[in-house]
Amino acid sequence: MTSVSDILRTMDYGPSPESPAPVNQWLSAHGMRFGHFIDGQFVAPAAGEYFGVFNPATEERLALVAQGGAHDVDQAVAAARQALPAWAALGGHQRARHLYAIARHLQKHARFLAVLESMDNGKTIRESRDVDLPLAVRHFYHHAGWAQLLASEFPAHEAVGVCGQIVPWNFPLLMLAWKLAPALAAGCTVVLKPAELTPLTAIAFAQLCVGVGLPAGVVNIVTGDGDTGAHLVRHPEVHKIAFTGSTEVGRMIRRASADSDKKLSLELGGKSPFIVFDDADIDAAVEGVVDSIWFNQGQVCCAGSRILVQESIAERFGAKLRARMQRLRVGDPLDKSSDMGAIVDGVQLQRIGQMVAAGRAEGLACWQGALEPPACGHFFPPTFLENVPAAHPLAQEEIFGPIVVSMGFRTLDEAVALANNSRYGLAASVWSENVNVCLTVAAELLAGVVWINGANLFDAAAGFGGYRESGFGREGGREGMHEYLVPKWLRTASALEEPESARLHPSAHPEPTAALAAQPIDRSAKFYIGGQHTRADSGYSFAVRSHGGALLGHAGLGSRKDVRNAVEAAHKASGWAKTSGHARAQVLYCFAENLAARADCLVAHLRAMDAISEAAATRQFEQVLERVFHYAAIADKNDGSAHATLTAHVTLAMNEPFGVVGLRSPAQSALLSALSLTLPLLAVGNRVVLIPPAHTALMFADLSQVLDTSDVPDGALNIVFGDSDDLAEVLALHDDVAALWYFGPATGAARMRAASAGNLKSVWAQSRHTDWTAPEQAQGGEYLRHACQVKNIWIPYGE
Ligand code: NDP
Repeated sequence: MTSVSDILRTMDYGPSPESPAPVNQWLSAHGMRFGHFIDGQFVAPAAGEYFGVFNPATEERLALVAQGGAHDVDQAVAAARQALPAWAALGGHQRARHLYAIARHLQKHARFLAVLESMDNGKTIRESRDVDLPLAVRHFYHHAGWAQLLASEFPAHEAVGVCGQIVPWNFPLLMLAWKLAPALAAGCTVVLKPAELTPLTAIAFAQLCVGVGLPAGVVNIVTGDGDTGAHLVRHPEVHKIAFTGSTEVGRMIRRASADSDKKLSLELGGKSPFIVFDDADIDAAVEGVVDSIWFNQGQVCCAGSRILVQESIAERFGAKLRARMQRLRVGDPLDKSSDMGAIVDGVQLQRIGQMVAAGRAEGLACWQGALEPPACGHFFPPTFLENVPAAHPLAQEEIFGPIVVSMGFRTLDEAVALANNSRYGLAASVWSENVNVCLTVAAELLAGVVWINGANLFDAAAGFGGYRESGFGREGGREGMHEYLVPKWLRTASALEEPESARLHPSAHPEPTAALAAQPIDRSAKFYIGGQHTRADSGYSFAVRSHGGALLGHAGLGSRKDVRNAVEAAHKASGWAKTSGHARAQVLYCFAENLAARADCLVAHLRAMDAISEAAATRQFEQVLERVFHYAAIADKNDGSAHATLTAHVTLAMNEPFGVVGLRSPAQSALLSALSLTLPLLAVGNRVVLIPPAHTALMFADLSQVLDTSDVPDGALNIVFGDSDDLAEVLALHDDVAALWYFGPATGAARMRAASAGNLKSVWAQSRHTDWTAPEQAQGGEYLRHACQVKNIWIPYGE
C-alpha cells in the first residue's frame, strides 16, 4: 500500500477533475450562441456575424459569439451615454450598493465562473478558482468602498463620462473587474470589449448585471476582434479609453486617440526581472520562479521572465530550478492536480515554439519539464534557457509563454543595470534576506511594481501599472480611481487659444532694428542649458516684441539640437531626484528670495508683454512668489502611502519623479503659468526642459539669472525658446524624456500625443483655459499627481 511519505517523495497524485457539466448546461441553455449586451439586454449583431470560441485544452467549440461592428459599437455607446446622467446622479452610496451586490453575486457564482474561465482560457482550475475569482470579487468590494467615499475623498472631482474598455485574454474576468469596478464607482458608464479568444466570462458577467438590477446601459459588452476595439477607440462620444494588452496595440490606440482629449490609460507588456542575490532563501526563490513564470502558463504581463542570479549561486540555483520543473504537471486545466494548463490558442503556441526553437538552434542551454504528448489541445512544457545574453531577443522580447531565461551578475549595481536594460518597466522581484539590499534595489528599479521575496502579488488596494513602454496610468487603489475622474472646473473651462502676439515670426535675414536704438544696450536672450547661458546652435535668432509690437530685443532660435543638449544636461542632473525633500525646499525658498530681489525687472517684463498696469503686474508677481513658497512647502510633504493590502505585506506606494520631463508652458499669465507647472515637477525631484512662449524669451533669460544664484543644480531646469510646438514635439519624440506636459492649443496637444506613440511616454496635454491665479485650478494635487509615477513595493513581514 502507498504510504504518505511515498506520495510526498513521488508527488504523485491521482486525477481530481472538476466537472464541466454546469458550464455545458449553461452553454446549451443559450443554444451555444450569444449576442452583444447592450442597454440591459442581449441583442443580435447588426451584421448578423458570429465567430467561434474554443476550449484551448480540447479544441472543442464552446459557443458562437457576436462579431461587433461599427453599428453595434454605436448602439452600445449610445446606451452608455443615455445611462450616464442618472448613474452619475445616483450618488456614491447607491452606486456602492450596486457594486456590493455585484461582489456578492460573483462570490455566489464563483465556482461556475472559475470553471467557465478555465474552459475558455485554458488556465488551471486551481488558478481560476483561487486567484482570478477571489481577486475579482475583492476588486468589486474594494470599489464599493470608493463609491461610498467618493464625495469625501475626491470632493473636487467628477466622473469622466463614457468609458471604452478593452481587455486581453490572459485574465478575462479579472481584467474586466479591474476596469469596470473603478469606472462604476466613479459614476462612469462603460462599453467593454473582451478579447476575441475569451469572451465567455464577460457574457456571464453581463447576465449577472441583469440579476443584480444594475440600471440598463451602465455596463454594455460588445464582443468582437481588434476592429471592434478600434471602433470603440475612435468613437467621438467615448471620454476615456482603458486598455490592457500588447505594447503594439497600445501604440495604435495612442495614435488613434491622439486628436481627441479622451483620457487614456495603457497597461501593456513587460519583461520583468527576477533578481536573486546570493544571500536569498534559494528554495523560496525557486518557488517564486514557479509562481512568477509558470503561473497562467507564463501568459502574464508582469511575469518574471528574466532571472538575474548572482554568479556565486547560479549553478546551485539552476540545479534546483531544473529539479523543480520536472515536478510540474502540465495537463487538463479542469484537473485540480494540474500546475499548468493550456496555452490560449494555437497561434500563441506556435509563436512560443518558434522562439524557443530559435534559441536552441543558436546553441542556448534549454531545459524543459516533462510533457506527455496530449491527444489534443495547445500545451507547452515549462522551459528554462540558461545563460542567455542580455541583448538576445529571448531576453528582450515579451514571449508570453512558460519560458524563463537566466543570466548572471556579480554586483548590486550590475544587477540593477541588467534589470533596467529593457524597454519595459512593469514589475520586478527581488530576492535577498538583507532588507537594505532589497530596498536599495527596489528604489533603483524602473518598474511600477516591485515584489520583495515574492512574485505576482495583487490586491485591489494597491495600484498596478508600468513605467516606460509598459504604459501609463494605474489600476487599483486610490491612484486607480483618478483614472476615471476629472476636476470639476475643467468641465466648463473654455478651449485655450493663444494670442497672435505669442506666435513666433522668425526671420532668416536681419530686420531693421531702428526701434532698438531706444534701448541702452542691444539685447539678445540666450538659452539656459546645464547651468550655462547658451547661444542657439542654429545660429538664427528671432525678434521679441512687446504686446504693442515694439521690438524689445532678440532671442536665439531653438532647434532640435538645443533641445537634445538640454535633455542631456537634465540627465546629468540626476542627483536632484536623490536630494532630500528638505534640501529641494531650501533651494526653492532661495529661488523665491532671489526672485523677490529682481521684482522690478520681472514686473517690467510682465507689463511689456501683456500691456497690463503696474498694479496688475505686481499682483501677478506676488502670486508667483506665493506659488514658489507653496511648492517649497510641498517638497518635503509629497508623501506616498502604505496600502492596506490583504496579505502580510507593507505595500508602499512611493511617489517617484519621472526623471527628465519636457514642459511646454502657455502664453496666458506667462510667468505665473510657467512656474505653476515647473515648480511641482522640480519639487518632487524631476529635471525639467522648459519651452516658454517665444515672446517671453527676454523675461525667461532674466529668470535664468535668478536660477544661477539660487543653488538650483546645473541641469535641473533648462530653458530653450523658439517655436514652442516644434520644440515640444522634439521632446515628445525623444526617447530619453520620460514625460511631457503640454499646455497649449488643441492642435498642438494632438500633435504631441501622436508624436509620443513611438516611445509611449506619459503625455499630460491640457488645452483648456486655466485661471492661473486661482489655486483650485492652478496648484496642488492634480499637478503633483502628474509629476510623479507611483511605484508599489510589496515588503513581506512575518515568519
Ligand atoms: P492584443 O494587444 O492584440 O489584444 C488585447 C485587446 O485589444 C483584445 O481585446 C484585442 O482584440 C484588442 N485589440 C486588438 N487590436 C486592437 C485595435 N487596433 N484597437 C483596439 N483594440 C484592439 O493582444 P493579443 O491578444 O493579440 O496578444 C498578442 C501579444 O500581446 C501576446 O503575445 C502578448 O505578448 C501581449 N499581451 C499582453 C498582455 C498584457 O496583459 N500586457 C495581454 C495580452 C497579450 P482581439 O482579442 O480580438 O484581438
